[in-house]
Amino acid sequence: MQLKDPTLLRQQAYIDGAWLDADNGETHPVTNPATGEHLGTIPMMGTAETRRAIEAANAAWPAWRKKTAKERAAVLRAWYDLIMANADDLALLMTTEQGKPLAEAKGEVVFGASFIEWFAEEAKRVHGDTLASPWPDRRLIVTKEPIGVCAAITPWNFPLAMITRKVGPALAAGCPMVLKPAESTPFSALALAALAERAGVPKGVFSVVTGSPKEIGAEMCANPIVRKLTFTGSTAVGRILMQQCAPTIKKLSLELGGNAPFIVFDDADLDAAVEGAIASKYRNAGQTCVCANRIYVQDGVYEAFAEKFTAAVNKLKVGNGVEQGVTQGPLIDDKAVQKVEQHVADALAKGGRLLTGGHRHALGHSFFEPTVIADVNNDMIVATEETFGPLAPLFRFKTDDEAIALANSTEFGLAAYFYSRDIGRIWRVSEGLESGMVGVNTGLISNEIAPFGGVKQSGLGREGSKYGIDDYLVIKYVCLGGI
Ligand code: ADP
Repeated sequence: MQLKDPTLLRQQAYIDGAWLDADNGETHPVTNPATGEHLGTIPMMGTAETRRAIEAANAAWPAWRKKTAKERAAVLRAWYDLIMANADDLALLMTTEQGKPLAEAKGEVVFGASFIEWFAEEAKRVHGDTLASPWPDRRLIVTKEPIGVCAAITPWNFPLAMITRKVGPALAAGCPMVLKPAESTPFSALALAALAERAGVPKGVFSVVTGSPKEIGAEMCANPIVRKLTFTGSTAVGRILMQQCAPTIKKLSLELGGNAPFIVFDDADLDAAVEGAIASKYRNAGQTCVCANRIYVQDGVYEAFAEKFTAAVNKLKVGNGVEQGVTQGPLIDDKAVQKVEQHVADALAKGGRLLTGGHRHALGHSFFEPTVIADVNNDMIVATEETFGPLAPLFRFKTDDEAIALANSTEFGLAAYFYSRDIGRIWRVSEGLESGMVGVNTGLISNEIAPFGGVKQSGLGREGSKYGIDDYLVIKYVCLGGI
């Protein structure tokens, strides 16, 4: 890996402004999923180091919250500028540890940086209220204050943007943050910390602890200093964290699993629907929580869509993400491949028709062929479980009500997509879908300006947008008497 600035590859954790090894000296290896190459190690930290990071955050909190919003915004803006200036290195680091194609990695760096820029601006717009008083001699005032020390746990599929989407609003609101990145993609997180240090984020305000997910997570949840936990990852782990946070009644933001329906109605622009489905399904090799997971196609256009879609899928180029023209990298690890294999085998055993792909890719490692299966039904695992891989199952439906009922027949409710050109249908279906986000005639919906988050068991809270900073604020009501 040839970085323009090799000092961005950090193999130590960043706690209270210092780069540190684990107390016991243990490390954890990081590998390139495209080649199996050993990239380096991270400290295998646990409870004690996490506690110190939390205590350092608490010590740094009073000075950070006392800064004016404009002062905090200036620090965040400097961090944003450094992320953008080092975008090529950050993208290369990300592709090397995570596998996504370089162009996608570059896109994520820009997307991730946008949250720092956005919340630097939003910091200045944390407004309170004065309320009409029911008493002639008292005035009612509402202010918003930083909640306090925050902890974050982030996943490997967006090694940079899932961090900035949490740290941006926390720091903007006046809260320090202790982060545990995913163990397979820690270098993006540590590079971000190196840039935060250069940007002038004070020591203790942003720390990155690497190591044992269970130990670090348990301390983050149990420690009463931590007032809020924000997590992006699986619903199963989200449930554990929610339980662990119950004794100390922490505020929670959870961005959990999805099982996004992608509906193609018979009046859709089929070419646009194919393009949207490709973007939504195969981005990051199908490893995003908003990836189309169940594609429902109306009877009249089913075969036409299947044919066009399969032709487009066959044009995808699988390979090492650093190579030119590659559109699909490897999956994160072999466990991820086994899940896709299981979903494919189950669908084919129950009557699915394989249109393309279906196997591990000839490149070996954790590469998998972009796959399309037709004649999929509700008895198959793909109907209920998130595949998190490059498998597109095509279901058939007849009526709008049936499509909405099928789309909603899941415990998840993160993103949903549909294609139609009928304005009445667009309203009815948008309103009928139980999901936090709906893409109409588009397969890509995420940006820093829009609220990202789910309903049902897809989570709590919203990230990004003018609403995102609220997750890091508490409301204080002051009743001023004696007037
Ligand atoms: P994914 O399917 O994306 O790997 P996970 O929920 O397993 O989803 O992982 C998301 C993040 O949660 C990672 O940073 C991982 O290390 C962390 N994690 C996994 N298990 C636990 C746990 N028991 N406690 C705290 N964090 C955990």
